[in-house]
Amino acid sequence: MNAYACPSCGSDNTQSFASIYDSGRYSGGSTSYGTAYVDGKAVPVGGYTSHSGMTDLARSKAPPEEKRAGVFRWILLFFAVFIALSLGGRLMMISDVKIIGQIGAAVLLLSFYLAIPVVVLLYRKQRNKVRLYNDLVARPNIERWRRSVHCFRCNHDFLLR
Ligand SMILES: [Zn+2]
Repeated sequence: MNAYACPSCGSDNTQSFASIYDSGRYSGGSTSYGTAYVDGKAVPVGGYTSHSGMTDLARSKAPPEEKRAGVFRWILLFFAVFIALSLGGRLMMISDVKIIGQIGAAVLLLSFYLAIPVVVLLYRKQRNKVRLYNDLVARPNIERWRRSVHCFRCNHDFLLR
C-alpha cells in the first residue's frame, strides 16, 4: 500500500506539507506604472516592483519555527547604561562643584560594571527558556510537520508511518 495514500478516503491525490509549502511559494518582480493591488489594497507603483508571497494552502502548511534567544532586552539594557554614562559625563562637565560630577560619574561607571553580570544573567535565562521551548515544543512540531501529508480529495491531514 502506498504510504502516501490517504487513510481516510484511500486517495493517492496527496502531497507532503513540505512539498506543498515549497511549491506554493512564489516570488518575482514586474515593471509597471500605475496601480498595483497588494492583498486587495491599491498601491500606486512606478517602476520595478518585487513581490513575494504564497498560496493560502502553502501558508497553512508552513513549517513550525524554532525560537531564537531574544537579545532585544540585552541590547536595550546596554543602551540605557550608555545613555546613563554619557549623562554622567555631561554632569561632570557642567558641574560647578567638580567633585559632585566626579562622584556621579564614578557611580554611573560602577553601575555600568554591575549591570554587566545582570545583563548576562538575563540573557542566559532567556536563552535557556528558548532552548527548553525548542527541545520540547518546536523540534517535535517540526518533526511532525516533516511527516505530515495533506489529502487534496478530502482535505484530511495525516502522518506518514
Ligand atoms: Zn482523503
